Amino acid sequence: MALPKRRTPKAKQRSRRGHHGVSIPQLVRCTTCRSLHINHQTCKVCGTYNGRQVLNQEEELTAAAADDGDEIEDDDEDEDDD
Ligand SMILES: [Zn+2]
Repeated sequence: MALPKRRTPKAKQRSRRGHHGVSIPQLVRCTTCRSLHINHQTCKVCGTYNGRQVLNQEEELTAAAADDGDEIEDDDEDEDDD
């Protein structure tokens, strides 16, 4: 009978079995835009939760585009002063 050459370490065994209980997240239809999103979480498409607007999608997109590069340069200047 074939026997394993080495004992399987607990970390290896547990990292392999880490995927055993993984399940697909429950998706529900958004009541506003009818797109699929994770239950009990804000709709990423229209930014509403329970029919209420909680995220301003246009503001976040423009803010993310404006922040590219500017904040990193500010951090470098602070480090040079020290
Ligand atoms: Zn939506």
